[in-house]
Amino acid sequence: MIRFDHEGNKVADVDAAAIDALAKQVEGLVLAPDNERYDAERAGHQTTRWHRPDVIVSAVGPADVQAAVAFANGYGLPVAVQGTGHALAAVAAEGGVLINTSRMTGIRVNAEAGTVWVGAGVKWDQVIHEAATVGLAPLSGSAPGVGVVSYTLGGGLGLLSRRYGYAADHVRGIDVVTVDGRLRHVTETSDPDLFWALRGGRDNFGVVTGIEVDLMPITTIYGGGLFFDAGSAAEVLGSYVRWTTTVPDEMTSSVALISFPEVPALPEPLRGRYVVHVRIAYAADTLGAGEGLVAPLRALNPFIDTVAEMPYAQAGSIHNDPPFPGSFESGTALLGEFDSAAVRALLGHVGPQAPVPHVVELRHLGGRLAHPSAVPNAVGHRDARYAINVVSRLERAEITDIRPAHERVFAAIAPWTTGGRALNFMNGESDAKDVASAYNPEDYRRLAEIKAVYDPQNIFRLNHNIPPAVTG
Ligand SMILES: Cc1cc2nc3c(=O)[nH]c(=O)nc-3n(C[C@H](O)[C@H](O)[C@H](O)COP(=O)(O)OP(=O)(O)OC[C@H]3O[C@@H](n4cnc5c(N)ncnc54)[C@H](O)[C@@H]3O)c2cc1C
Repeated sequence: MIRFDHEGNKVADVDAAAIDALAKQVEGLVLAPDNERYDAERAGHQTTRWHRPDVIVSAVGPADVQAAVAFANGYGLPVAVQGTGHALAAVAAEGGVLINTSRMTGIRVNAEAGTVWVGAGVKWDQVIHEAATVGLAPLSGSAPGVGVVSYTLGGGLGLLSRRYGYAADHVRGIDVVTVDGRLRHVTETSDPDLFWALRGGRDNFGVVTGIEVDLMPITTIYGGGLFFDAGSAAEVLGSYVRWTTTVPDEMTSSVALISFPEVPALPEPLRGRYVVHVRIAYAADTLGAGEGLVAPLRALNPFIDTVAEMPYAQAGSIHNDPPFPGSFESGTALLGEFDSAAVRALLGHVGPQAPVPHVVELRHLGGRLAHPSAVPNAVGHRDARYAINVVSRLERAEITDIRPAHERVFAAIAPWTTGGRALNFMNGESDAKDVASAYNPEDYRRLAEIKAVYDPQNIFRLNHNIPPAVTG
């Protein structure tokens, strides 16, 4: 039998008898690589990278997670977690234990308290639907298929963010299994360090089995999309950036330069076309001012305009992110000012003639996002003005072409970047420097110290890893 030592070196394999013994303790599935269900259980939304664990535990509840973590810790195996597989926030790990939480879909809305508790496998669409029935809305993001737990603990930049701040700023309590196999209910008062670290440090301290978050008194927003032709990209992007400096905190928006594929699933006017897509989510107590706020963008003559009052339950239509699995490569950066010189620099490297098809998304930050959380957490870089993401699908270009093309985009806009990044938009392989860039330096040091207390052997390392601080 080969085992892993605590440095992560493979020194022994988990044999069939060990896996059988684990299966006896677990109510959900326990699968070795030769099981016919193995591939289905490790598949996720993101298909570029796959974990290849020694064993998958598809948990149905916290007790299964406890058994899986205790097993991993007992063998010195690293632990990976997958909810929806939207991120696979790790190197495609060979070996270890993968805990699949997708069956943990419990949800309890407390309308009076304005909160919801969700299990680790719950996606935003479930919460949006349940909350709407009592006149509330969650701090969900662009894609309703994303998992609540990872999104929230990675920061959580949503459609209501400029009004209410990061989703991580609105967490009441977290149920987490730590490396000792203990299920802890972590709050501001029970374990202040761990509560601080989980909100921003995400997956470095344990496996979260459930989370309680605030809901907001929002039923209707003024939202939708404005689509412009590629030919007006410079004018629209320049106007959009100037416009963002004028809008109130209730206005959350983004702009994307999108190279749509030629596929029948797309509406005819978008098929095979390169467009500029402005996304609007205005969430004020009364929505009357929305039309006037959007007027300067409408004056630029969009060829599609869907911006209107809409139930928050339909907010997923604002970005219309593809709901089906796919393979993509992406890069991300946080920006300070983004002026007309920055727009010119960006447009020199993206557009219909760019070497690889892409989506370039510029999200407007600021507003409440710029304020510290009422209960401090590890989400940093609150002074950033915009976040930029560049995404290309591997179905449409070779990875060897995508990477240099993305690098050229980020090099061109380097003068306007802050050096920081948003954890939620970091995908795939990351080194220690990449991970550190998601945090303010003093927060990163504190996270490493807390990691040394809660996971000194770095069992939770198949992630954007924060190694434990070395003391003494
Ligand atoms: C189409 C799309 C749209 C997006 N839109 C937004 C957006 O608007 N705003 C935003 O902030 N982010 C957004 N994201 C990023 C998204 O929030 C992150 O990728 C997030 O990590 C996805 O979580 P998941 O559970 O869906 O994915 P998974 O791939 O299942 O999880 C991602 C990682 O989180 C960790 N993890 C998952 N579950 C647990 C758990 N229970 N306990 C401990 N660790 C866990 C694991 O390390 C895992 O690798 C988007 C991503 C995509 C692909």
